[in-house]
Amino acid sequence: MSKVVLITGASRGIGRAAAILCGERGWSVGINYAGNREAAELTAEDVRKAGGQAIILQGDVAVEADVIAMFDETEKQFGQLDGVVVNAGIVAPSQQLADMSAERLKRMFDVNVLGAYLCARESARRLSVERGGKGGSIVLVSSVASRIGSPFEYIDYAGSKAAVDTLALGLSKELGAQKVRVNAVRPGLVNTDIHASGGQPDRAHRLGVNTPMGRPGEAVEIAEAIVWLLSDASSYTSGALLDVSGGR
Ligand code: NAP
Repeated sequence: MSKVVLITGASRGIGRAAAILCGERGWSVGINYAGNREAAELTAEDVRKAGGQAIILQGDVAVEADVIAMFDETEKQFGQLDGVVVNAGIVAPSQQLADMSAERLKRMFDVNVLGAYLCARESARRLSVERGGKGGSIVLVSSVASRIGSPFEYIDYAGSKAAVDTLALGLSKELGAQKVRVNAVRPGLVNTDIHASGGQPDRAHRLGVNTPMGRPGEAVEIAEAIVWLLSDASSYTSGALLDVSGGR
């Protein structure tokens, strides 16, 4: 059955890979991005080539008006949503907490926590059957950092992802009767641009060799789990925190 899905942070990395897998299923995808329009357009092109429909949606998930606008536009173009992937997230350069500025902490929690909560809230409003939705699936992209704590690297990021885990647990219970399933995927070390944005482009490879599977993951390996959780094949899975981390 065809689905309408909105994916935040889908211009690059894990979100982009998930968008293309949705395209392969013939689904319609809203591709949100922050600033990299060229990358978003490339993802949209690849979704269409794969057999789906796509639109691109600029917006900062930490800005409420942007979040509402991206949901509105997706529903205007494709009809009522079936699924949302709350994926956009950031890291910052490695530091100990003692050295972190308030500005850094604020931006981390604005994007990764407030952004996730705003996107999840908007999803709850639009998917819940009692509010006129048709039910569906919300997939939150967390991280195994939430249970590791990421000392000496970014415990701000780790804490932001712990909030995402808790959001998945609570919201899955709020929305169970609304025919909305809510789950979190917790990737381990995945080969994407995010590590370069934290000042360590080789991080996934460098640390990945010491994980149980001896390598970093690829974005598509996380995307497979996300798309399974969006699909009807996971119809009895809700409130799960699914580690996709090569055993890390
Ligand atoms: P990435 O390659 O750095 O891509 C980040 C994506 O998020 C881009 O599409 C970017 O848009 C978008 N974005 C960033 N800030 C945004 C904002 N404020 N509003 C809207 N979009 C924004 O990251 P990734 O590795 O794919 O990570 C995706 C998710 O997986 C994140 O939540 C991350 O924490 C989580 N994760 C990643 C790893 C890993 O090892 N890669 C591990 C665990 C968890 P632009 O292209 O426009 O900048």
